[in-house]
Amino acid sequence: MSEAAPAPEPKSLNFLEEIIEADLQSGRHQGRVLTRFPPEPNGYLHIGHAKSICLNFGLGRKYGGATNLRFDDTNPTKEDVEYVDSIREDVRWLGFDWAGEFYASDYFQQLYDYAEHLIRAGKAYVDDQSDEEIKRGRGNFYTPGTASPWRERPAAESLDLFRRMKAGEFRDGERVLRAKIDMQHPNMNMRDPLMYRIRHAEHHRTGDAWCIYPMYDYAHGCSDAIEGITHSICTLEFEDHRPLYDWFLEQDVEGKFFRKPLPRQYEFARLNLTHTVMSKRRLLQLVQERIVTGWDDPRMPTICGLRRRGYTPESLRAFAEKVGVAKRDMVADVALLEHCIREDLEARAPRRMAVLRPLKLVITNLSDAEAFEVELANHGERPELGSRRVPFTRELWIDRDDFREEAPKKWFRLAPGAEVRLRGAALVTCTEVLKDASGAVVELRGTWDPASKGGNAPDGRKVKGTIHWVSAAHALDAEVRLYDHLFLAEDPMDVPEGQDWHQGVNPSSLEVVRARVEPSLAEAQAGERYQFERTGYFAVDLEAKPGVLIFNRTAGLKDSWSKIEAKA
Ligand code: ATP
Ligand code: MG
Repeated sequence: MSEAAPAPEPKSLNFLEEIIEADLQSGRHQGRVLTRFPPEPNGYLHIGHAKSICLNFGLGRKYGGATNLRFDDTNPTKEDVEYVDSIREDVRWLGFDWAGEFYASDYFQQLYDYAEHLIRAGKAYVDDQSDEEIKRGRGNFYTPGTASPWRERPAAESLDLFRRMKAGEFRDGERVLRAKIDMQHPNMNMRDPLMYRIRHAEHHRTGDAWCIYPMYDYAHGCSDAIEGITHSICTLEFEDHRPLYDWFLEQDVEGKFFRKPLPRQYEFARLNLTHTVMSKRRLLQLVQERIVTGWDDPRMPTICGLRRRGYTPESLRAFAEKVGVAKRDMVADVALLEHCIREDLEARAPRRMAVLRPLKLVITNLSDAEAFEVELANHGERPELGSRRVPFTRELWIDRDDFREEAPKKWFRLAPGAEVRLRGAALVTCTEVLKDASGAVVELRGTWDPASKGGNAPDGRKVKGTIHWVSAAHALDAEVRLYDHLFLAEDPMDVPEGQDWHQGVNPSSLEVVRARVEPSLAEAQAGERYQFERTGYFAVDLEAKPGVLIFNRTAGLKDSWSKIEAKA
């Protein structure tokens, strides 16, 4: 009889899972779980959003519920369909599907109706003060606010003015609608927050149907309630807004617009990443100032940038899982992100040989007639990934970095008189170094041991070093883009007084080299990923086409994360 396998160690729940499980147990939402991912379509999504997507969709999936995609499009001046399309594409690419696709702008009429109700109930009023006056009247953390002279204006008058605001009778900034809560409230957000402002601007969906637009705090909770969201998850900076979120919903329950149980807001820590900026506003600046080539520049922390760089959806999901759900702000090490893609590609990327900095090596004792082909496995540990044939000829390219004229101790690669293994093909000894007038090495000559065909020493002699190579006659030209961190400093915002964060851009965040790659890459398609042996992981860029090979370095082979982890 076989013993029962020990039950797997139960993974401890994060605080959101604990809340949801408690709600499921108490039957608070009749067993329903409905989350939402609510991006504002004012930029491309970044890795922070990926975290939020994995979290919201992950919880929906885990608890047999679902997740809505809601475009929080209440600010007409910054939003665009271009962004809506990219957001859809990115969420799908990450591996998630939404139950409903909604737009806060779909709710403009309902939100307007609720607002009229609040006015009638004496819980909102039209304020004629300027932005500046309103701000002053709010007071600050130490000083209570003072009431607006319009705070006690009769409901009928506010209602009339609000309707005229909607009808377009006033200019931007002339009047606003405010909730009437408490000007002395210790939480500044409760000191009569704005609900509506006037914006004569074309909206990407509603066109010019509206010239008043609801504020985030008002629109967000109501949108959640309209959709029947159970758990509304947002980042920590909204913690102080939660009382307001609840206040609006309570009023709407009184107005019989919604029934209990209401959605509840929960906050978790925003994800930050070392060596990059993250907010859409700053990323947009990088694009507009042409510091990068676009939102999908492979150095960008955007989802489309990471995709172009060669990141897989699996690696981003693994990263989101590893960073976890925190209640205090944190900065994840970009080395952890790189660790995740390496782990994924190590297991599945086919291997190829590519010479990034070519140096000619001529094998003087190999005639053209003696040239041969070697069969190389696509993946050392996964025979099911097949193999390919690679020609080995008299003239080869090897990497400049694999040769040293004055070799240090423990140098096992090529050097004058030294013998090295050309991966999978032969043992070769360097016999001659050719230089140009300036003394730079331009070519190497060597001899091979014909008995070593396949790369093994016939007499069992030790040849420690193995280097990669490409047949010069068969090699394909390729542009290879070597990427590094976009910012030199771990925290790009930590700049000396008087300096701007732009100045911290890493001047060598992109190096382009003309490489020679093995002929089997002729048909490589945009988006495919490879390991170039001994060099790193590379993805075919989306600008590549037949006859034009372009590779982006996704990550090097060295895993700095394991070192960081070991130190911790
Ligand atoms: P940014 O400040 O970077 O422009 P945002 O918060 O304004 O981002 P939204 O489109 O409003 O962007 O965000 C959509 C959702 O993604 C929100 O629920 C937000 O909390 C979440 N989110 C945004 N940035 C991060 C982040 N860095 N980490 C985790 N979640 C994030
Ligand atoms: Mg935002």
